[in-house]
Amino acid sequence: PGTLWVVPTPIGNLEDITLRALRILREVDKVAAEDTRNSRKLLTHFEIHKPLVSYHEHNEKQRSQSILRDLEAGLSIALISDAGMPGISDPGFELIQQVIDANLPLEILPGASAFVNALVGSGLPNGRFVFEGFLSREKKERKKRLEKLKEEERTMLFYESPHRIKDTLKDMEEVFGERRGALARELTKRYEEFIRGSLPFLLKTLEKAPRKGEMVLVVEGFQGRKEEAFQDLTIEEHLLLVMET
Ligand code: SAM
Repeated sequence: PGTLWVVPTPIGNLEDITLRALRILREVDKVAAEDTRNSRKLLTHFEIHKPLVSYHEHNEKQRSQSILRDLEAGLSIALISDAGMPGISDPGFELIQQVIDANLPLEILPGASAFVNALVGSGLPNGRFVFEGFLSREKKERKKRLEKLKEEERTMLFYESPHRIKDTLKDMEEVFGERRGALARELTKRYEEFIRGSLPFLLKTLEKAPRKGEMVLVVEGFQGRKEEAFQDLTIEEHLLLVMET
């Protein structure tokens, strides 16, 4: 059978495609792409001319099956998305799962993904972190998720759109309080920017001068009860804390 190659593409700067990614894209029989028009432009830029099939969130299930048949028939296929790593807040999961279940050859190429740059450039602890992808567009759902994350100790990463970023920061301020955060914007592009500071500072900065473009929000994890007033604790909890320290 043929191999499914998962191929990351740049998240802005076209130089961020690997030599191996280019070779694989040249060698495969077909490319499955989230948006064939976008991907056609990208491939043309690199002078690669391959048959493209669309693979997006609305046809993932059916399209996975036809791609599986192609792989079984011996064709090799590259899976790409509009930007970054396929499957990371992008289509891909369904196909990858089916390829694994069918025991077909699968290869994942390393490459750009926005959250890695955002995490490393945020200056926040990166030894342990959680990727949350996009929060819900519905306020109630969003709040519910944030409440669940209130005592998450690891640094958290969120993908966000410029239209919702202020609402999200407001919700976060309500739930998380004065945490540190960083907004990573337009990564790898000409106007790349990191805004670092407390969540209220990030909000104020955006209220003064709204920002467009793609963004990743990085939020410090819960730092334990040390800064909280002891009055919130019961006598037993207080004693336990004192004994621990
Ligand atoms: N598959 C992609 C990846 O590996 O990062 C993510 C695709 S997701 C549909 C798009 C979101 O990723 C954007 O809304 C933004 O949160 C983030 N993103 C992608 N490119 C970015 C960039 N150059 N700068 C900042 N954030 C970016």
